[in-house]
Amino acid sequence: MLQKKKSHRLRPKVAAIGSRFALALAGAWLLLTCGIDKPCPNLIIVLVDTLRADHLSYHGYGRQTSPHLDRFAGESLTFLNHYAHASRTGPSVASLFTGLYPRSHGVLNPLEARDAKGILSEEQTTLAEILASHGYSSHGIVTNVNVSSRFGFGQGFASYTSLERGSRIDIADLELAPPFFLYLHYMEPHSPYNAPEPFRSVWIDPDYEGPVTGRHRQLDHIVAGELVPNAEDQSQLTALYDQEIRYFDYQFAKLLETLESRALLDNTILLVTADHGEELFDHGSVLHGYTLYEEQLHVPFILRDPRIENPMRVSAITRQVDVLPTLLELMGVSYDGTLQGRSLVPQINGEAGDPTGDSGVFAQTRLNAVKKVKSRSLLADGWKLIVSDLPEPGHELYHIPTDPEEQHNLATSNTAMAVKMRRRMRDLIQSLPLATEEQVDLTNEEKEELRSLGYIR
Ligand SMILES: [Zn+2]
Repeated sequence: MLQKKKSHRLRPKVAAIGSRFALALAGAWLLLTCGIDKPCPNLIIVLVDTLRADHLSYHGYGRQTSPHLDRFAGESLTFLNHYAHASRTGPSVASLFTGLYPRSHGVLNPLEARDAKGILSEEQTTLAEILASHGYSSHGIVTNVNVSSRFGFGQGFASYTSLERGSRIDIADLELAPPFFLYLHYMEPHSPYNAPEPFRSVWIDPDYEGPVTGRHRQLDHIVAGELVPNAEDQSQLTALYDQEIRYFDYQFAKLLETLESRALLDNTILLVTADHGEELFDHGSVLHGYTLYEEQLHVPFILRDPRIENPMRVSAITRQVDVLPTLLELMGVSYDGTLQGRSLVPQINGEAGDPTGDSGVFAQTRLNAVKKVKSRSLLADGWKLIVSDLPEPGHELYHIPTDPEEQHNLATSNTAMAVKMRRRMRDLIQSLPLATEEQVDLTNEEKEELRSLGYIR
């Protein structure tokens, strides 16, 4: 249940930690109560659909895909090993907004049927609802139909606007009275890979004469095995994807300009993350939602809090379910509902240790439109286990520190570790309550839009 009272609980344990940030924050909390003596911090979440972390230049990628994001990361807290719990939009964003694993928030989005779609139930409590109970007004602008208010994602928002993919997100005239929460969901670099000029021709080969265009239908054909690209086609497609990142990066710079010109950054926590990544032939295919390899689950997570003076890079493994508890602690907002992650404030304060504790990072994916898949994965202590029921039953085991691209399956050569990881996965699944899945019937327009993005056939 939500706490209705507006006072914000003090966290004395933070005061005991000796970093500069902790002292500055604890001092503020001891002297003042947010909402009464000082303004509550605003929150902006920039969610970038389909952005794999390793294609960003600040992650060491060979192309300068993200110059503006790099600069922003250089002034912020940058979590370098952050993971999603699903390789699809709905389950992943629901985890970000509830602090729960997909199994427990119920958005598994199987899309088994063409006429109905799983939704985020009203029974679930979202970040916007928690903040609304603390006097925040929340506004969302989204460009992915999967997170529209029809599917439960507008809960707790004062305004929630769904734009078509390709629309420009513009907040110049959006009324934002503090304290506010703003959720902006960008659809680049999601397919089709069709960035406008001048981003359309940054890295593609101008002399390329092959079939690759970056259109979504064509990517589906690749997944289905109906089109088999050669090395030249693959590098053209990768260039098209990277250009989409560069286009997002440009939009992010424009967003920062607007926020600065409206003086909205001073008391605002600004977070940039992604819902999942994208395969670009890492494991023989393309797109997302079909597998749980690193290119699907390893996503960016950058957090800028103006009260934190020193930029920092955190290399501990962090998870989507950790984001909500971290934000609530930073914002001084109390919540006594169930959360399945942990606040990362100890890591921000420079404490060592694995924030995932014993549970590791669990992820899952379910039946899909183009290819029938059902898999679960667990990353813990450097080992990653992937258990699949479909397309065929099997186990995969990878040692991520020595094999980060997951090319050497050790499931049969290290059966002891595979068994151990399997047991850990089973124990974790059993500890997570199973939510009832809810669905709504799709309208013809929604079916058409979902079809154009490849979500249904
Ligand atoms: Zn997505």
